[in-house]
Amino acid sequence: MSFPTQRPRRLRRNENWRRMVRETSLSVDDLILPLFVVPGEGVRNPVTSMPGVFQLSVDEVAKEAAEVHALGIPAVILFGVPHDEDKDPEGTEAYNPGGLVPQAIRAMKKEAPDLLIWADVCMCEYTSHGHCGVLTPDGEVENDPTLDLLAQAALAYAQAGADAVAPSDMMDGRVWAIRESLDDEGFVDLPIVSYAAKYASGYYGPFREAAHSAPAFGDRRAYQMDPPNVEEALREVELDIEEGADIVMVKPAGPYLDVIWRVKEAFGLPTAAYQVSGEYALIKAAAERGWVDEQRIALESLVGIKRAGADMILTYFAKDVARWLGGK
Ligand SMILES: [Zn+2]
Repeated sequence: MSFPTQRPRRLRRNENWRRMVRETSLSVDDLILPLFVVPGEGVRNPVTSMPGVFQLSVDEVAKEAAEVHALGIPAVILFGVPHDEDKDPEGTEAYNPGGLVPQAIRAMKKEAPDLLIWADVCMCEYTSHGHCGVLTPDGEVENDPTLDLLAQAALAYAQAGADAVAPSDMMDGRVWAIRESLDDEGFVDLPIVSYAAKYASGYYGPFREAAHSAPAFGDRRAYQMDPPNVEEALREVELDIEEGADIVMVKPAGPYLDVIWRVKEAFGLPTAAYQVSGEYALIKAAAERGWVDEQRIALESLVGIKRAGADMILTYFAKDVARWLGGK
């Protein structure tokens, strides 16, 4: 019998002991901040369901890039949010080389050349129907014709200076289509961050306000993953790796820690996790009511995601975390 010879409490008695035996550490190096770009100038629209998050015009997002870089955060991920009148059934603005995201990338690179800019690649912010691909006459999202449009969008972002492209649409074969188009145009060294296991989740609600991307009809269950499945997530990840993904992502993060763990265990690739808008909003809302301690819960949620196996985390808390950890 090991008790009382073994007393694990001995190494928990003060902060110095706890620091020495701590198994997981969260640092600013792990963080990617999502940013939303809108048309106009001098625009900082608060997203009401995500306190502290703003839709930013190109000039404002460039200033934000400088601030994010000064906080030591290594990367951001960009989402374009065009006016409704600029949306059409084919999502043309997604692959317009002069569109919002390419403009933002160029402006951000001037203000913060060393900040890594990931460009999210999807159609749903740009299509009039709000789905992640083009539709058949009876309203089904068509896989193969969408691939070419995604590849064009990724290329437009690469040409504008993006440091990575991140397809989030969940069409089959998109990583391969994007890799081929990037390679053909000389972007052989540009990484692809694949949203490999993206679930059809209720936790995306606030994002849809931020990105104006709610589908006009139906939902995304015919292409995003079914929440109860994990073996299927491993197949999705394996396919994306075969197609050329450099980093694989699990989204959402908090309710899918087992998926993160299984993916990291099975493949060992750099693994990202997206702490999505609903995860953020729940913490914010409870903290506003004084029901939880925001800083403590946010840090605990993020260290849990790391402990599960994530190497990096996309989170709306990125700037707060940088300040909390840096004492700024
Ligand atoms: Zn989408």
